[in-house]
Amino acid sequence: MAISGERPRIALISVHGDPAIEIGKEEAGGQNVYVRQVGEALSRQGWQVDMFTRRSTADQLEIVQHNPHCRTIRLTAGPKEFIPRDDLFGYLPEFVQNFQQFQTDLGVEYPLVHTNYWLSSWVGMTLKKLQGSKQIHTYHSLGAVKYQSVSAIPMIAKTRLATEKQCLETAERIVATSPQEQEHMRSLVSQHGNIDIIPCGTDIKRFGQISRAEAREVLGLNQDDKIVLYVGRFDRRKGIETAVRAVGRLQHENLKLIIGGGSRPGQSDGMERDRIEGIVNELGLQDITLFPGRLGLENLHLYYAAADVSVVPSHYEPFGLVAIEAMASGTPVVASDVGGLQFTVIPEETGLLAPPKDDAAFAQAIDRILSDSAYRYQLGRAGRDRVEAMFSWDGVASQLGKLYQQVLSVPTVERSAVSA
Ligand code: UDP
Repeated sequence: MAISGERPRIALISVHGDPAIEIGKEEAGGQNVYVRQVGEALSRQGWQVDMFTRRSTADQLEIVQHNPHCRTIRLTAGPKEFIPRDDLFGYLPEFVQNFQQFQTDLGVEYPLVHTNYWLSSWVGMTLKKLQGSKQIHTYHSLGAVKYQSVSAIPMIAKTRLATEKQCLETAERIVATSPQEQEHMRSLVSQHGNIDIIPCGTDIKRFGQISRAEAREVLGLNQDDKIVLYVGRFDRRKGIETAVRAVGRLQHENLKLIIGGGSRPGQSDGMERDRIEGIVNELGLQDITLFPGRLGLENLHLYYAAADVSVVPSHYEPFGLVAIEAMASGTPVVASDVGGLQFTVIPEETGLLAPPKDDAAFAQAIDRILSDSAYRYQLGRAGRDRVEAMFSWDGVASQLGKLYQQVLSVPTVERSAVSA
């Protein structure tokens, strides 16, 4: 984008998903990555990007500067401690108040806010009422889909469903990250509202730059191991159990299962970590299973490159970043045949799909890839090509930037008309 003079300003709002935090632990996953990567890529393309989140510990910096044109701003909303997302709604008015105070101190008003997840959508809708801001929204997860697959529906469900519907019907634009997510919005949330499909992305320079053999050497893994990799949060809906049970069915020599992701003892992800370890032990897989913990900038790309297969056994995914990170690394994916995974993974071309929770079908798919190295290579190569063509962050940000420009070019409704 050619920009003269002052950069156009955009606020990305992600109340519970802090873009500056370590990824992979309790509740920190794809949304944090998305906001951070989109923000940084937009700043490279000429935008001034401020990313707003909630302060969740007292010792956190209030402002983290990622580059001269992109920063994370942590606003106070409720106690400065970790609060599960289902308990955050009551603190949103304070978030809005502090957002507006920040604007006053800075002497600007953001004409456009891009909100993330339903909690932030409420913030965006409130700012629209208070100051006529335009709103673009990415859901990251839809209550209407999620509540179909959980046994205990939380108290907040009614509020969430109503907020998600109102946002779809009133935001200037909604960003669906896959055609499957768009379809769910239409069939389960509302027929009204403007939806654009812009996928998530991945860092094609970070992933896919090291060979399988080199990555194994750096990680101290054997060259002849058959490595099945899971990466992600410890959350029951991620279906890690399916991956473990599938590996338990395989007969290969030198089989190894790596389960990457962090957890916190006493928190819900710590409990899922213990449950998974229990299943590993019950199946007698403890000698072939590794739990390397949270994978960060220094080693995530190495694990993807070292693996023979990356499994994404989620019960549902609106998009599923892990699948495209593995593909970018040239590693075939075996994923659940659901949601955005049906969009990113092309069966028999970049990986294989299996019904969620079906460990026998996962075992069969993994086995096909582990048994045929030429097929594994072919799937991996095609996955890399697909990601390069469709899922780079710079490509995603440029599509988002165009959308912002379109929305900003429509004259703003008069303030008095907004508040009337
Ligand atoms: N992730 C990470 N380190 C870990 C575990 C996960 O960096 O130890 C990252 C992973 O690489 C991906 C994100 O967390 O970028 C998870 O996003 P995804 O869309 O797959 O799932 P979500 O967490 O949004 O449900």
